[in-house]
Amino acid sequence: MKMKPFKKHKKDEYSIIVGCGRLGANLANQLSEKGESVVIIDINRDAFRKLSASFAGVTLVGDATYLGVLHEAGIEKATAVVSVTNYDNTNILVAQAAKELFGIEHVIARLYDPERECVYREFKIDTISPAVLSMKEIDKLLGIENDPEEMYEI
Ligand code: AMP
Repeated sequence: MKMKPFKKHKKDEYSIIVGCGRLGANLANQLSEKGESVVIIDINRDAFRKLSASFAGVTLVGDATYLGVLHEAGIEKATAVVSVTNYDNTNILVAQAAKELFGIEHVIARLYDPERECVYREFKIDTISPAVLSMKEIDKLLGIENDPEEMYEI
């Protein structure tokens, strides 16, 4: 990934994380510890229990597929949007809205199904795919050398 959206934050800037699951909560905790401003959305209030006691960001209960919820989170002025719910369709929808409707520069989405990555590429959305990352890591552990551009197209 070329961009490092979280390194340039000023005081009035914030990132939105959608999905306070294992990945989203850890990311939110990490950013908050570094002094970054974070708004985290989850459809399930209990999910926020994963946030650390020192988490200093804002939590918002809601379904992020609703534009009203994204508005409430202040998406218009967000510096970055990271969508890591457990549903690819939700992540696609949120990422496309962030990019197309709100013109957010840094948009990252988790994709369980790497075959859908082409959709994201079209919209200039960065993706992370657990399957692809796992393959890379397994290859590294096994000492298998691959061309990163070609070998991880699933
Ligand atoms: P995990 O699979 O552990 O990374 O968790 C994914 C998180 O995404 C869970 O806490 C879900 O409640 C949350 N989630 C799923 N769908 C939505 C949605 N439409 N809006 C907001 N959060 C969601």
